[in-house]
Amino acid sequence: MQYITRQNGQLIVPDHPVIPFIEGDGIGKEISLHVQRIVDNAVDKVFQGKRKIEWKEVLAGEKAFNKVGSWLPDETMDAFRSCLVGIKGPLTTPVGEGIRSLNVALRQELDLYVCLRPVRWFKGVSTPLLHPEKVHVTIFRENTEDIYAGIEWAAGTPELEKVLKFLQEEMGVGKIRFPETTSLGVKPVSVEGTERLVRAAIEYALKHRLPSVTLVHKGNIMKFTEGGFKKWGYALAEREFPDQTFTEHIFNKIKAEQGLEKAVEVYNHAIESGKVFIKDVIADAFLQNTLLKPEEYSVIATLNLNGDYISDQLAAMVGGIGIAPGANINYHTGHAIFEATHGTAPDIVGKDKANPCSMLLSAVMMLEYMGWQEAGDLITSALETLFENGYGTSDLARFMENGKPLSTSEFSRKVIENL
Ligand code: NAD
Repeated sequence: MQYITRQNGQLIVPDHPVIPFIEGDGIGKEISLHVQRIVDNAVDKVFQGKRKIEWKEVLAGEKAFNKVGSWLPDETMDAFRSCLVGIKGPLTTPVGEGIRSLNVALRQELDLYVCLRPVRWFKGVSTPLLHPEKVHVTIFRENTEDIYAGIEWAAGTPELEKVLKFLQEEMGVGKIRFPETTSLGVKPVSVEGTERLVRAAIEYALKHRLPSVTLVHKGNIMKFTEGGFKKWGYALAEREFPDQTFTEHIFNKIKAEQGLEKAVEVYNHAIESGKVFIKDVIADAFLQNTLLKPEEYSVIATLNLNGDYISDQLAAMVGGIGIAPGANINYHTGHAIFEATHGTAPDIVGKDKANPCSMLLSAVMMLEYMGWQEAGDLITSALETLFENGYGTSDLARFMENGKPLSTSEFSRKVIENL
């Protein structure tokens, strides 16, 4: 058994790493096996038998509950903790079990603070845009803070009354419009939480030679939380990456002190010398701009709730809502869980109709994270060929020109044939 480890900030990946996987509920069973088969074939083809993933099934969700009486057994957490890198299919969210969501539990337990969502268009895939090829964005969504932290109290409860009393009597808050019937939530956003997210986004842009990182926020309204995110994000770029980045914040300072012409001159020089431009935009303007001028955005860093909306809008713009991949990562410890971003699709379970591409492209991200990029590239180019020729599972093929709908098994076989 060989484990992926981390030394001096680097992932050390053995030739036969153990990768834990959660098969997933519903269609999870139908796609996981195909994904593994495709990945195994790609790895074998590229590395000629020298490298091979040792898949290790771990239980979660309904399968875990039925077999061992727990939705998320300790052994599963232990496996992700010790193997560092793993992958999962979609899980049914248990109702009334005291766990809000298994996905959230996994993220919190391993402190997976980045939700990474790359968004690109595949030629052949039907989209609502005239020029979907202009969309090539990687979203870094903060995964542990914001109103997603789940700190809230329901209207009419004694807890709410206590918090309300504190706010009104000790903090002098008089702005709550209907105090008798209000619920309350708390939105924590910290310097550390912001910095580790923005640092990861800048390092990603530098590694992949991307032109910009955009901080998307609502700091115009929520001054200290969303506004703090913007302020601390700029400060981090200027403090930790002064030679590799140029910020809009500095641009505006030069403009105010020395005029627009000078600011543009310094900006042009910075960009010509290969610096990453760090800019910011208000979230609502950003959503408009993604439709009007998507080519202006490359890497996005944003808080949890904004990131949720943005991920789905951008995926929909390239027609990829059903095939969008994702990962949850802690870049300090190296822990990462790659995942299908859709749910368990109860309406098509058992019909061999499910699209395996969300989980497959997440596996491609995993191969890249492990440094086995060539194997991931092989899978991506097989998908490019298939989509371009109208092949896809029915959810995609029915919207394609000359689409040829295939079952999950047929499509997966075709991917392997095209590796
Ligand atoms: P869903 O994503 O399961 O389904 C929404 C629609 O998309 C359905 O029509 C479904 O058939 C279709 N669809 C989804 N994945 C598809 C695929 N791979 N191929 C073809 N069609 C696909 O969302 P839902 O119905 O709201 O949720 C069902 C269950 O999944 C719930 O228990 C929910 O909590 C859970 N869920 C889990 C995750 C996760 O584990 N990451 C994410 C979302 C929902």
